Amino acid sequence: MAKITEFGYLGVYISDAKAWKEYATQVVGMEWLDEGEGDRVYLRMDEWHHRIALHINGKDDLAYLGLRVAGPDELKEMEEQLKRMEVPFTVGSEEDCDERHVLGLLKLEDPSGNPLEIFHGPHIEASMPFYPGRRMFGKFVTGSGGIGHTIIRADNVDASQQFYSRVLGMRGTMEYKLAVPGGHTVKPYFMHCNDRDHSIAFGLGPMEKRINHLMVEVTEIDDVGITYEIVKQREVPIAITLGKHSNDRMLSFYMRNPSGWLIEYGAGSRPATYQTEYYTKDVWGHEFVEPAMGMSRGSL
Ligand code: FE
Repeated sequence: MAKITEFGYLGVYISDAKAWKEYATQVVGMEWLDEGEGDRVYLRMDEWHHRIALHINGKDDLAYLGLRVAGPDELKEMEEQLKRMEVPFTVGSEEDCDERHVLGLLKLEDPSGNPLEIFHGPHIEASMPFYPGRRMFGKFVTGSGGIGHTIIRADNVDASQQFYSRVLGMRGTMEYKLAVPGGHTVKPYFMHCNDRDHSIAFGLGPMEKRINHLMVEVTEIDDVGITYEIVKQREVPIAITLGKHSNDRMLSFYMRNPSGWLIEYGAGSRPATYQTEYYTKDVWGHEFVEPAMGMSRGSL
C-alpha cells in the first residue's frame, strides 16, 4: 500500500499578517516570503519553496495539512486506497498544484473534517538556501522527518487512528495515559510515518480550534535557549514551560502564536522507536502555565 512519508507542509488561516511577520521571523526565526499574491504569504524553514502558507482571511485556524507520498505512482495508489475505503476526495487541478508548489495533489478530509492534502513533488528552491529571520546557532530539523509534528482535533479517536493507519499507512496508537485534574484521564494518540517520533497526534479532548500546536525542531539546544529568552523579553505567552517528553525525548516549550494556537519549539529528539510504547508522565518539566485548549501538564 502507498504510505505517507512525511508531514510536508502546513496551511493556516490568519487574521493579523503584521503580527505574524514579527512573530515568525523575530521570535521563531523563520524566513518570510511574500510573492505579492496579496491573500497569502509563506514561511520557509529549509530549501523548500515554503513549509507554511499563511492565508490571510481572519479565521485563525488550520487550513490544511500537506502529507507527502514518494511520487506519482504512490499518489495514484493512494487514490485507489481512498476509493476502496470510500473516502471522498478530489484530484487537484494544475492550478491547485501550482498554488501549492507541488506536482500532484489530492484533497480530502479526515474523519473529523480536518482538511488534508496528499501530495508528491514539492518545489525545492535549491538555489535559495534558508535565510533565518533572526540569528540562529543552527537550523530547523526537517529533511526526511518533514516539517515537525502537529496535534489536531479528533471527534472520534478510534476513527482517526484507523483512518491514518489503514488508509494513509501511518503507524501509531495511544501513547500516554495521563491523569488530569477533575479525575479524567487524557489518552492522546501519536501517529508516525518516518524517523520522527510522531508527525500527527490527536485525542486531547474537545478543542475550540482544529489545530492545537505545531512542533518545530532545531539542531542546537542553544537555539531553544535564546528563543526562550526572546519569548520572555517580548512577553509572548508561554503555555507550557521547558521540559522533556517521554515519547520523543525532546527538550521543548510551548508558546502562543498570534492566531491563538501554540508553537512547540524544541531540540534533541530521539528517533522513532518503530514499535508502540506508552507513558503515564513526562521525563521532567512541562509545567502548565495557562489554560491551553485541553492541554494538561506533560500531556504533549
Ligand atoms: Fe508536541
